[in-house]
Amino acid sequence: TSRFDTLQAPPKDPILGVKEEFLADAATDKINLSVGAYRTDEGQPWVLPPVAEARKRLIEGKLEHEYLPSTGLKSYCDRVDLLLRGKTSETSATVQGLSGTGGLRLCFEFLRRHHSPTVYVPAVTWSNHWNVLRDAGCDARPYTYLDGIKLDWPKLVADLEQAEEGAIILLHLCAHNPSGVDPSSEQWRELCALCQRKRFLPVFDSAYLGFASGDVDKDAAPFRLFCENGLQPWACISFSKNFGLYSERAGAVVASCASAREASAVRGHLGKLARALYSNPPAFGARVVDAVLADAALEARWRECLVVMSGRIADMRAKLRSALEARTARDWFVHCVGIKVRASARAIDATVCHAIDATVSARWRDGRCPRRSHITSQVGMFSYTGLNKQQVLRLRAEHHVYMLESGRLSMAGVTSSNVEPLAAAIAAVL
Ligand code: PLP
Repeated sequence: TSRFDTLQAPPKDPILGVKEEFLADAATDKINLSVGAYRTDEGQPWVLPPVAEARKRLIEGKLEHEYLPSTGLKSYCDRVDLLLRGKTSETSATVQGLSGTGGLRLCFEFLRRHHSPTVYVPAVTWSNHWNVLRDAGCDARPYTYLDGIKLDWPKLVADLEQAEEGAIILLHLCAHNPSGVDPSSEQWRELCALCQRKRFLPVFDSAYLGFASGDVDKDAAPFRLFCENGLQPWACISFSKNFGLYSERAGAVVASCASAREASAVRGHLGKLARALYSNPPAFGARVVDAVLADAALEARWRECLVVMSGRIADMRAKLRSALEARTARDWFVHCVGIKVRASARAIDATVCHAIDATVSARWRDGRCPRRSHITSQVGMFSYTGLNKQQVLRLRAEHHVYMLESGRLSMAGVTSSNVEPLAAAIAAVL
């Protein structure tokens, strides 16, 4: 007898599924703009030179493979904490996480048990947030984020004003995924005041620290602002993109506490949760980050790499915009009227997330919107192009160009040699 007879294969992950489709395409001129991984202008993965140097030193040195503590490598945690805060803090509890995703899971496992299960999540967001929150047993509720291509500031504020007091609010530190739209400095200040008034616990998903502006301190500003105002924010950091350590799973959970005693207890409980989930984190990626941040010269070279990566992406944005403007006579975007997302709390999952994505892009296409300026005003790895599902599917079938059904494309996959064919393909499906 079959044990799993009634089990259906799960729907494909909206991001990883597209990559599979891309790999199965035999065309030689295919373009993959689905996955968020940095590529050089030659379309190749990039091992950052300071990372290669740190790796070499580690391998040549006395590298053992003993277990780390459940809370991870202590020197790494201290340096990561300093990197994010810009100064040391006695009241910080920083533990190593399994990169961004694992850190988020650990963070929300803790917060659901010890603070609140209610988490307000921007609509739209990185699709895996819904999965992580669901599996951590949280009650995930969307708050309005976008009005087409720009931040829907009035609705965002209105939604958060109505949110439960003391709830957890998930924020993207910078380079919002998938939209590339971040609040302005002024809006961050207002958001900070709102969070204070509502006694929210802010959690910053920090998967792109230094990647948006090319400057870690600039990108970390919202977190530091919230700290200065006594909000005791948390952060889930990933070093996948900014160190190019995707498969090494280097990350951290940073918790701001009221006292050193509280920080020690929080740290202990995060470690206890990690012990039951995966016992202890992998060491190599954390050692690489630690080695780079421990050496002033290597750290300076790493900071230059951030300028190179963010600069190349900004350059591709400019090139894609002008290539599109040269080819498309009219604007295809329209200003959206805004969306109301209703999703029942606990039932929220990837399917709902997909529906939210689709709603946003649909509204987006139904209004009016300025030229292709969003391509350059959006920041970070991703851009919401405003293309609809049908156009995206045509791009795949007829032009071997792969992006998410929501119209999100990864700018990191755009290169000097594919930007013109890409613009031509987009123009052809409009
Ligand atoms: N958070 C956001 C917003 C992301 O875009 C990503 C990765 O794409 C992550 C978290 C997860 O990062 P990691 O691959 O390090 O787990």
